[in-house]
Amino acid sequence: MKLILLGPPGSGKGTQAKRIEQTYGIPQLATGDMLRAETTSGSALGRRVKSIMDSGELVSDEILVAMIRDRIAQRDCRDGFVLDGFPRTVPQAEALDRMLAENNSRLDAVLEFVVDEPDLIGRLSGRFTCRNCGASYHELYNRPKVDGVCDMCGSREFDRRPDDQPDAIRTRFAAYRRQTEPLLNYYKKRGILQKINGMADIDNVTREIEAVIAGI
Ligand code: AMP
Repeated sequence: MKLILLGPPGSGKGTQAKRIEQTYGIPQLATGDMLRAETTSGSALGRRVKSIMDSGELVSDEILVAMIRDRIAQRDCRDGFVLDGFPRTVPQAEALDRMLAENNSRLDAVLEFVVDEPDLIGRLSGRFTCRNCGASYHELYNRPKVDGVCDMCGSREFDRRPDDQPDAIRTRFAAYRRQTEPLLNYYKKRGILQKINGMADIDNVTREIEAVIAGI
């Protein structure tokens, strides 16, 4: 099964992609996480993309397409994958179609997370994650049980994404509207776009996704 999760920053794609990975045994391919791993490792690629990512702009199609081409050729993607954060532009979507066609394969569904943008700004600006185990929290909606201590692993060190700051958040939404939203029409025309209510609580979003998957 090959799925794409499409929606603006903070719409819950990452949370749901992790659950899909667990339930259906297909890997989550999160291009934002892959790029952040490059910046943390200090690789040449990481150094090239860090300031672009911090500003909230998109990294070039060339870099992203090469990254996904390598990733989906790996063994664990044999039975499919869930794409989280890719494609984000029409040229990326076209490149993905070509890659899949070369392997006589195609997408099964594109799930559009329908959300209210003003609420997302609040969701993003309070996010933080445990530096040790990656568990995610929010200052207002999901604080650790004991302030300053991770519920999962007990670590006291947390990170905030540099692009979860107000200026970068605005740039990320603008990039979404300008470069990514046209994909909705691209996939609608192909008849594979399915809408999901991204404002429901996390478990209800999961249930809605599972119902859509059962129908494909
Ligand atoms: P995310 O974690 O998905 O919010 O991605 C974080 C940042 O990584 C984005 O704001 C972009 O700078 C970059 N990025 C991730 N995926 C892509 C993509 N498919 N195309 C271009 N840039 C991307």
